[in-house]
Amino acid sequence: MILLNPGPVNVSERVRRALMRPDICHRESEFSDLLSRIQQKLLTAFVPGAEADYVAVVLTGSGTAAVESAVMSCLPTGKRMLVLNNGVYGERLSSMIGLHRLGVSELKSEWHIKPDPERVRLALRQHPEVHAVAMVHHETTTGLINPIKEIAEVVDSQNRVFVVDSVSGLAGETIEIADSHIYMVAGTAGKCIQGFPGVSFVLLRKGFLERMRGYPKRSWYLHMTHYVDDQGRGTVPFTPAVQVYYAFEEALDELLEEGVANRTQRYRRSATRIRERLGQLGIKALLPADSQSNTITAFHLPAGLSYASLHDQLKARGYVIYAGQGQLESKIFRIANMGALTDSHIQGFLEAFEQVLTGAAVHT
Ligand SMILES: *Cc1c(COP(=O)(O)O)cnc(C)c1O
Repeated sequence: MILLNPGPVNVSERVRRALMRPDICHRESEFSDLLSRIQQKLLTAFVPGAEADYVAVVLTGSGTAAVESAVMSCLPTGKRMLVLNNGVYGERLSSMIGLHRLGVSELKSEWHIKPDPERVRLALRQHPEVHAVAMVHHETTTGLINPIKEIAEVVDSQNRVFVVDSVSGLAGETIEIADSHIYMVAGTAGKCIQGFPGVSFVLLRKGFLERMRGYPKRSWYLHMTHYVDDQGRGTVPFTPAVQVYYAFEEALDELLEEGVANRTQRYRRSATRIRERLGQLGIKALLPADSQSNTITAFHLPAGLSYASLHDQLKARGYVIYAGQGQLESKIFRIANMGALTDSHIQGFLEAFEQVLTGAAVHT
């Protein structure tokens, strides 16, 4: 099955075979070595040239575990988080903070609109109680890329902590984490890194780590400095998904061999092909081109074709697409192009799509 959903993604045979390596105990040196190689490769991939300024905190759990660990570990008592919310995942950031009974304020924009850096600057000037700003890098809801660099500049100039959910962004989009002084970036093995779901991570700026140590512990499993301290001793606090770590390392090797910039370009090319062909078929994209990511496109459903029918007919041909979420559930469909997909996979999908569309036109 070819997965055109935003994770889990199709992985290479090389990554799949890595699952079959020997059983090891996570309290032994074999695991410590594996963990430290993964951390090193994450830093090489995502903070090149500034590896000494960051730690890679690796967690067993899907991307949400990394995001939740970051947001609940970055606030001192009595301080607030400002969430820039323009989609389902931005919404989720605020809900998480609210759930932990931490103070949260929101700057909301419509789902097709990027947050305005000047509004953020104003909000931070007016609200000294806001300690941290959280934003989603790539809003998976619509495929919109938020202006990370511009917002990071504002947050940094106002001396606040910037927390970024780049679960669907890292390895698919450009993000200059170190140059932009971003304090925390959450990611996952199972999207653009092309590993399996089940391992996630936070890239954490070391200077901030020292400040975080004084903040209250709000979760047993997800308290971040607990992981950092254990990782300093070559281990993790709880039983890791060892086999998934093996595959994660292999996926990071593949990423570094391909090069992060080349991967990003490859995704861009696939997305462009999909957008061009569907455009020729009269299918309209939800977002203007300058807001679109490299790995997800949201399209309006064509008149007379329901999502269920489109999905089922494509699935019967071997392709899994993705529905809209929230207020867009019945209006759009999404095509992701993350994962170990070749040009011929994309071509095959485009042919299948055309067949389904032509069939629908004949019936109406
Ligand atoms: C997929 C995704 C998540 C959640 O990841 P899970 O692996 O499903 O927990 C969080 N944020 C964004 C932006 C995502 O795309």
